[in-house]
Amino acid sequence: MFAKVIIDQDAKALDKIFEYIIPDNLDIDVGMRVYVPFGNRVLQGFVVGVEETCEYDENKLKKIISKIDDFSAIKKELLALMEFMSKKNHLKLASILRLFIPAEMREGKVKELFETHYILNNDVEINLSKNAIKQQSIVDFMKNNDYQASSTQLSQFGYGAIKGLLDKNIIIKEKRETKRTPFVISSERKNIKLNQSQIHAIETMTEDKTYLLHGVTGSGKTEVYMNLIEKVLSNGKNAIMLVPEISLTPQIMSNFKARFGEAVALLHSGLSAGERFDEWKRLFSGEARIAIGARSAIFAPIENIGVIIIDEEHEQSYISESNPRFDTHDVAQFRARYNKCPLILGSATPSIESYEKAKLGEYQLIELPTRANGKELPKIQIIDMMNEIRTGNSGIFSNQLLADLVNVVNNKKQAMIFINRRGYSSFMRCRDCGYIAKCIDCDVSLVYHREDNRLKCHYCGKQYKVLTRCPKCNSENIKHGAVGTEQIVTKLKEYFPDVKILRMDNDTTTIKNSHQKILNEFKNSLPGILVGTQMIAKGHDFENVVLVGIVDADQSLYHADYRSTERTFQLITQVSGRAGRSENEGKVVLQTYSPRHYVYKFAANYDYKGFFRKEENIRQTAQFPPFTRILRILFADHDENYVRELLKVCYTEIEKLKEKYGDDIIYLDAMKSPIKRIQDKYRYQIMMRFKLDKADEIEEDVFNIVDKSSKTSVFFEVNPQNLS
Ligand code: ADP
Ligand code: ZN
Ligand code: ZN
Repeated sequence: MFAKVIIDQDAKALDKIFEYIIPDNLDIDVGMRVYVPFGNRVLQGFVVGVEETCEYDENKLKKIISKIDDFSAIKKELLALMEFMSKKNHLKLASILRLFIPAEMREGKVKELFETHYILNNDVEINLSKNAIKQQSIVDFMKNNDYQASSTQLSQFGYGAIKGLLDKNIIIKEKRETKRTPFVISSERKNIKLNQSQIHAIETMTEDKTYLLHGVTGSGKTEVYMNLIEKVLSNGKNAIMLVPEISLTPQIMSNFKARFGEAVALLHSGLSAGERFDEWKRLFSGEARIAIGARSAIFAPIENIGVIIIDEEHEQSYISESNPRFDTHDVAQFRARYNKCPLILGSATPSIESYEKAKLGEYQLIELPTRANGKELPKIQIIDMMNEIRTGNSGIFSNQLLADLVNVVNNKKQAMIFINRRGYSSFMRCRDCGYIAKCIDCDVSLVYHREDNRLKCHYCGKQYKVLTRCPKCNSENIKHGAVGTEQIVTKLKEYFPDVKILRMDNDTTTIKNSHQKILNEFKNSLPGILVGTQMIAKGHDFENVVLVGIVDADQSLYHADYRSTERTFQLITQVSGRAGRSENEGKVVLQTYSPRHYVYKFAANYDYKGFFRKEENIRQTAQFPPFTRILRILFADHDENYVRELLKVCYTEIEKLKEKYGDDIIYLDAMKSPIKRIQDKYRYQIMMRFKLDKADEIEEDVFNIVDKSSKTSVFFEVNPQNLS
């Protein structure tokens, strides 16, 4: 017998299928990991096929050395997914396969965790003397109770008694695998009576197709998800549910744990290696039946899937931006169709792409138009910050926001202040010559962090001393750029010295479980103010939050990105959705320097459909996605000359496609990337935009051209999320 093997190496030259002989004494199955000889090395590989004949000359084939695991780590469905992703995303086979198993398993770094304990020896008859009261009580206890770790047993019974029983061979030592489980805050199961819209949604979303669940913030989408999953489980099937950020999972997780207990497994990057490995194995073995997690959970090793849910489907985090690049929607779509089950995309602010698909009938639209508890959405008040300046207030907070904060504090309630930038201020600049402090490796301006009095690069993490004197002109006249989370906290503490003020952003959440700690602390602070980046925008359900302040709404608006207005609308809606979720009425104060921009009008009225029509119109006229497709080809290398040369070669070839495709190629240009260097790699790119009906064909041609020319990694991005 012969095996088709993909070598687990990230090298372009090895990106194909190799054949090996299966020795008679090895029982090899598709999906197994194996050791194979390669040149004069021994490498790891994945078996993707077992055949009776081989294509290559049999006499030249080598033998598989051994198995790594004695089970097929990669199931059949995922092998089919590999094929799909290699075509769709143009990725190396090994790099796709790596997505399917925990990284720690590949490197052999984690193993099952075994603990010893003592159990009754069933082979001997227990015949203790009457005086051995202690020993008899242990035997009775063990007969009536389940597993206990040896440490518990020793502290409970004492070593003497245990030793006595061991010597009599009445108890023996046993090794048993223990699963490491992620920590989850417990919550009680709520008893909720579903409303008509929820019931309709649950009853409708059962077929083998994609549904777009458009439900306003607080409309009870989570309850819909849980009911759908309950139905699926009772039909003997399994479920995957994706949430965008780990900071969200504590709440969702505790709801799901309260409802489904051990059937839930968590998969996200915030877990320890051991926890991730064990949760993966619980899913693999079928012990856990619901995979919940961030993007990577879409690769959960479960079969017989009955529903896949993507919550907050519009979120950017569903698109993997570093290699291997893929869009979780595509993967979810593939798995749903493979399992013939519904795929549910839920959001209060669906992406323009998804809503367009619903409009065209490709997705079925289901709506939850009101908050589940019948409350109104909070009123959004727009504050013109130019007007504040004209009337003498040049501070960070408008008079209105301050007055509302005072109210919140007096009433012992809570507020959330949202700002889309961490750190203290965005950059440091010399007022005399204009010099801006930049990272030496990344060509981006550094961000000032006051807590450790450092300048930091948000791309590579390098830290620098703070500027006190301009290195260019020696001036000491140094200015800080736009404000960030840290500065807001400092200012708020001046206004409200006795109020609990918490901060949640990438800097305060580097330690494991820190999200949960901050959120928990906030929950118990009355009055309390939580300052944060987009981490606080989504999902959280705090009953005492009555005020949301958006400090600088324009921040996401003026990006050189066709999605920036859409993003701004989504952010405002999501952040606003945190206010007034229970008995207390909520309010939002939105500060902007361009109060007449259309996005604010639609956002303040919660008019998603109006916004969609306007945005759809603009995209159609300007020929942007979803009406066209953008392809970015990014070349990055330490050797600038090499990338430049490669860019030139590829561009010349690609340009020839214009003859073949004419107007179907709307735009084509080669340039330096907006951030010219990241981690000391020079970045050049080719940007293309083409019409939809020829898009697949053009893309294929471009892939082939670039593949032929390049030795190093080239990144292809379709409709890129981030143009840096
Ligand atoms: P969404 O995810 O749509 O923003 P959630 O699922 O977080 O909304 O629900 C918001 C709140 O409404 C939660 O506290 C939830 O328990 C509650 N809720 C959900 N469904 C109902 C219902 N039918 N009646 C009353 N409260 C509900
Ligand atoms: Zn200067
Ligand atoms: Zn850097």
